[in-house]
Amino acid sequence: MNIHEYQAKAVLKEFGVPVSKGAPILAKSDVDAAVAALPGPLYVVKSQIHAGGRGKGRFKEPEAGEKGGVRLAKSPAEVAQFVDEMFGRTLVTVQTGPAGKQVNRLYLEDGSDIEKEFYVSLLVDRVTSRVSFVASTEGGMDIEEVAHKTPEKIVSFSVDPATGVMPHHGRALAKALKLSGDLARQAGALAEKLFTAFVTTDMAMLEINPLIVTKDQRLVCLDAKVSFDSNALYRHPDLVALRDETEEDPKEIEASKHDLSYISLDGQIGCMVNGAGLAMATMDIIKLYGAEPANFLDVGGGANKEKVTAAFKIITADPNVKGILVNIFGGIMKCDTIAEGVIAAVKEVGLAVPLVVRLEGTNVELGKKIISESGLNVIPADDLDDAAQKIVDAVKKA
Ligand code: ADP
Ligand code: MG
Repeated sequence: MNIHEYQAKAVLKEFGVPVSKGAPILAKSDVDAAVAALPGPLYVVKSQIHAGGRGKGRFKEPEAGEKGGVRLAKSPAEVAQFVDEMFGRTLVTVQTGPAGKQVNRLYLEDGSDIEKEFYVSLLVDRVTSRVSFVASTEGGMDIEEVAHKTPEKIVSFSVDPATGVMPHHGRALAKALKLSGDLARQAGALAEKLFTAFVTTDMAMLEINPLIVTKDQRLVCLDAKVSFDSNALYRHPDLVALRDETEEDPKEIEASKHDLSYISLDGQIGCMVNGAGLAMATMDIIKLYGAEPANFLDVGGGANKEKVTAAFKIITADPNVKGILVNIFGGIMKCDTIAEGVIAAVKEVGLAVPLVVRLEGTNVELGKKIISESGLNVIPADDLDDAAQKIVDAVKKA
């Protein structure tokens, strides 16, 4: 689960991490209160969307002006003007895709005098099964580009969970950022606080880009991108409350309500599969035959008719879907359950695109019989290869 920058900073502040003073603007009418909460005279108006690259992004609407999604304002009047220009507009950044994201929240922050910008992140390294720090002196810019062009400028080290964060990790961070004296001491304290925040709240990723040195020699986290491990959210009801569903794909929200593993993709063929491995194989074979999957969808091992119906509805609601491939290997899941679910869903929502169904395993004959007797226009398939070719052909013909 991702959260907004202003929420991430509030979480980090609780752990003593240095962040700037700021006030969220959730409606245009919040401007005066937000300005009053800050010392001035420099303010930064920051678009809050679940995507990075806001500073270099541009708004779609001409009314939003020529500037990006992070704007430096030199007076309360300028703050009001920027809020007026940005609020409700669509910001396009390298991370939003060409459609962009609507800015429904802004964050007004105290303007910092920046001397240097660094990069620091913490993430779960699946190779070492540890939390790793990634640090670079090249902050404020696209870290992927730094990794590509000058990989030697990125330093990484991990923390042994048996010891937790130690003073030497702090020194390693200071060294990576080439800091000495009091700034090195600040980096040491920061490493400890970031790590504690990360582990305590079950984060999956914490990215500070930039971490800055101010003109008066203080380390401050100027940007914060946080995502939490969804599997641990049950332990953090306070963090779940930070969820902003308007930032998420409505199809994925609907899927999570039915406990379906669903990820929407860019292709034309909707897939309904049981088991993550089979879902991956199904997506691969669709690509092999020259088309692209519209989604990853694993209905799980023990799906019932209601779950299958919900899954089918989510797929058909996607306007990009030009054909559907149902590929089920009945083990614990019975093929007749799937067949009944598909038929119930088609009866309810209709079927405007070709549908190929491939069933195998427990109760397969019964499942096939239910489908063939349903009178629905379903294209049956014998195996995965046959199914993939049939759906790709059907979509190409349509
Ligand atoms: P994004 O990474 O989405 O572009 P950032 O929060 O990193 O957004 O902001 C982009 C740039 O704007 C930063 O690299 C920094 O130079 C500047 N900036 C952001 N917040 C402030 C602030 N409070 N004071 C001064 N400059 C800021
Ligand atoms: Mg940033």
